[in-house]
Formats: sequence, structure tokens, C-alpha cells
Amino acid sequence: MPVTHDPWEKEREAMVEHQIAARGIADRRVLDAMRKVPRHLFVPAGYESAAYRDFPLPIGHGQTISQPYIVALMTELLAVSPGDRVLEVGAGSGYQAAVLATLGAEVISMERIPEVARIAEGNLRRAGYTGVRVVVGDGTRGYPSAAPYQGIIITAAAPAVPEPLVDQLAEGGRLVAPVGGRDLQELVRLEKRGGKVTRTSHGGVVFVPLLGEFGWEGRTGNGMA
Ligand code: SAH
Repeated sequence: MPVTHDPWEKEREAMVEHQIAARGIADRRVLDAMRKVPRHLFVPAGYESAAYRDFPLPIGHGQTISQPYIVALMTELLAVSPGDRVLEVGAGSGYQAAVLATLGAEVISMERIPEVARIAEGNLRRAGYTGVRVVVGDGTRGYPSAAPYQGIIITAAAPAVPEPLVDQLAEGGRLVAPVGGRDLQELVRLEKRGGKVTRTSHGGVVFVPLLGEFGWEGRTGNGMA
């Protein structure tokens, strides 16, 4: 590969050191992936200089690209190995999908807003991630035709972990998701072993809502919570 100068490399290194490693993310592969993915190509034009800062950014249509630390934390919890098939629910900017692809995962990323899916596809292509598949649809139902998945990551706030996604998890598979109320959620990690699912909690987070049949929409209008 030709050696090209990336003017953002220093900012990316500082992001990894001060925002991610300093907060306890220790997985070398995750840190390396965060060092590699050109995050400035996943933010709207004009926001490049804010791409490596310690907060989420708007990407249009009321959606956001998550804070770098949260992407790193969720990626570490997902524990992907090269060749793992991973389903992401909530493609957004495509950035999280790019980080997972950098770790060698085969990524399918679902997005319910067609215009946002096109943004994700455009960003991924521009950054050279041609292997990621972006699928328009309700990700709370999962994507059965490519199941089972070694990893499932939900990057929108779920009222509860959607049952179809647990079903589509492979033996030994992990699922990471923000679960809770609309304003504040807890990051949870599920692992399926011997048909049993164990669950651990990993702190408070704030995400935009997961809509759809097994998300918030499915809970309104019928009096059930
Ligand atoms: N992972 C993204 C950030 C996602 S923001 C990134 O790296 O940039 C959350 C996204 O989830 C939004 O784009 C929203 O439209 C999408 N979303 C919400 N509910 C969904 C559903 N049921 N299926 C698929 N996508 C959904």
C-alpha cells in the first residue's frame, strides 16, 4: 500500500489515548481498530474537525454517530474474532460497522430510515469498507436469512432486548445493547451458552430510541408496557 499522509492520524491517536485507553479499554485489537478507522469520513461535511472529540455528533434525520468511547466499549464487549458474522441494528453513519469490519467481522448492518442507510453506504464506500452490507428494514426482527450470528450489536435504545435477536444468536454468541428507558439506558451484554443466556450490565448510556416491532413502536397503542 502506498504511504499516504493522513492529516487526522494525530487526532485519532489522541482520541484513543485520552478518551478510550485512559478509561480502561485494554483490548489491543479494539484500540488498533479505533486507530485505523477514519472517523472524519463518517460525520457530515463540515463536522470533520469535531469527529475525534469526546461526544456524539448529529448525522441528520434526528440520528447520531455515537461517542468514540462508547463505540470502543461496545466493540470490546462484543469480543469479535476474525470471520465472525455480526449483525448491527442501527447503521447510522456506518462508523460502528467499519470498526467491526476492521476487526475481521463479516458485518450486516440494518437501518430503518432509507436515507440514513444511503448515508451509511456512502460513508463506508468512501472509506473503503466494501464488504459491509447495509440492509434497510426493522432490525428488531433481526435478519433471519443470514443467522445465526456470533455477535449482535444494537446501537439504539431498546425498551427490552428484542426476542428475535436472542433467537438469532449462535451458540457462544454475544449481544450488546443499551436497554432501559427513553432517556437513559444500561449497556447490557448477553451470552448464549448451552442454550442458556447470561446477562451482565456495563454502566449507563444514552442512545436515540430503537423503533420497530420489538422496539418502542411495538409498545404504544395497546396499553402494554
Ligand atoms: N451505529 C451508528 C449509530 C446509530 S444511531 C453509528 O456508528 O453511527 C441509531 C440508528 O438506529 C439510527 O440511524 C436509527 O434510524 C436506527 N434505528 C432505530 N430503530 C431501528 C430499527 N428498528 N431497525 C434498524 N435501525 C433502527
